Amino acid sequence: MEANMAHGQHWKDEHDIKSGFSNDHASIPINVRAFGQGSNPIAFEFDARKLDYPEFTKTGSLSGSIYREGDRFDLEAQISAEGEFECTRCAETFQERITAPLHLQFVPASLVRDIDDPNVIEYDPLSSQEVDILGDIRDALVLAIPMKHLCRPDCKGVCPVCGKNKNVEACDCIEKEDQSEAWSALNGLRERLRAEEVKQGDRN
Ligand SMILES: [Zn+2]
Ligand SMILES: [Zn+2]
Repeated sequence: MEANMAHGQHWKDEHDIKSGFSNDHASIPINVRAFGQGSNPIAFEFDARKLDYPEFTKTGSLSGSIYREGDRFDLEAQISAEGEFECTRCAETFQERITAPLHLQFVPASLVRDIDDPNVIEYDPLSSQEVDILGDIRDALVLAIPMKHLCRPDCKGVCPVCGKNKNVEACDCIEKEDQSEAWSALNGLRERLRAEEVKQGDRN
């Protein structure tokens, strides 16, 4: 048992060394004690893999300001992360930087008025030097990914007839598709069904 665990640990270490990254204790901490009263600029970059969202593979950034009033902090920032996405129309992979606004308040527990406000993070000013905002950054960025996510606004998609990516290669499948042919196929089906009905009627 012990040997297995040791082996598991060894494999994990090796795995982390290979990928150069571990999400085990990932955090994006804000050191609140570093900010003076009033408005403070804030800007930093982070490894977007910390977000533990497979599409975000590169660098993320935050820039904005923190307003301090006593032990209350008001963070107003723009966040972004570069990711690798699959086009919902042509299924090709493409890179895109997702951006989102982030508005958070760090408030001592005794001063929190609305505990259900998702923008308010409770902290203990006596014991906490840092407030972790990784989860908030992840949520804001994931929500900002469009449902219909195209590699480019005019993506032509994949031809349903020949399967070619029409962004890369044009095909003349649409021209070939004859409307009258489609209708005659439908009429044929209708006739077959009618004949079937007649047969059934004969049997009864
Ligand atoms: Zn596309
Ligand atoms: Zn085609």
